[in-house]
Amino acid sequence: MARTVLVTGGNRGIGLAIAQAFAKQGDRVAVTHRSGDAPEGLFGVRADVTDSASVDAAFTAVEAELGPVEVLVANAGVTDDTLLMRMTEEQFVRVLDTNLTGAFRCAKRASSKMLRARWGRMIFISSVVGLYGSPGQVNYAASKAGLVGVARSITRELGSRNITANVVAPGFVETDMTAALPEARRADYQKNIPAGRFAAPEEIAGAVTWLASDAAGYISGAVIPVDGGLGMGH
Ligand code: NDP
Repeated sequence: MARTVLVTGGNRGIGLAIAQAFAKQGDRVAVTHRSGDAPEGLFGVRADVTDSASVDAAFTAVEAELGPVEVLVANAGVTDDTLLMRMTEEQFVRVLDTNLTGAFRCAKRASSKMLRARWGRMIFISSVVGLYGSPGQVNYAASKAGLVGVARSITRELGSRNITANVVAPGFVETDMTAALPEARRADYQKNIPAGRFAAPEEIAGAVTWLASDAAGYISGAVIPVDGGLGMGH
């Protein structure tokens, strides 16, 4: 059955691959984009997840065009890396505001319609770094670990209404975010990944579409690693 799907930050990288995977299987897909144009063939709405009014307007526009959001993929995220001693409070708060509070704003806005429909899927894009830790990423890792608490609490609140909330924790993925890594650091990371390579964005999308499918209806509060084995055991 075709569903209405909203992917935040779906104009590029992992979000775009996720949106395209849903579109390919026949779902009605909307993406949010902050700047530029919507990707070709997908319904785009402008939104900044750090702004509740903007999130609300985006959901309203999607509802008018495609119907209530049944599958939410909270994917929008940023990094602002530096060592703890150098990290300003502003750098910490800004990353949390996008990655964690931004996901909360979207989940809250999505929840009322999901409750009314007595069906919903929320998928939060975290990171291996959330539970593994990473030097220079205290802000980012905290935001990504926080998503686990969000998904598990939503599971306990809304689980009886046929609403699931899960976390996908990618390892290193070939996108603009990792293109910024210096070559030496990239090689160093690669050495520690049992798969011996970074992931393609489509490999993350596969886990996300599966979590939204009927086959995964009894999975909730789970953290699904898609990291080539990097974080095994955490
Ligand atoms: P990109 O940097 O390629 O894309 C990030 C996306 O998030 C863009 O669409 C961007 O919009 C959007 N975004 C950022 N801030 C906001 C905001 N305030 N409001 C709305 N949208 C915003 O990242 P990736 O595709 O690599 O990452 C996607 C997600 O996956 C992120 O949450 C990231 O943390 C996570 N992840 C990525 C990994 C990787 O190796 N690449 C590994 C593990 C997790 P715009 O184009 O307007 O900037």
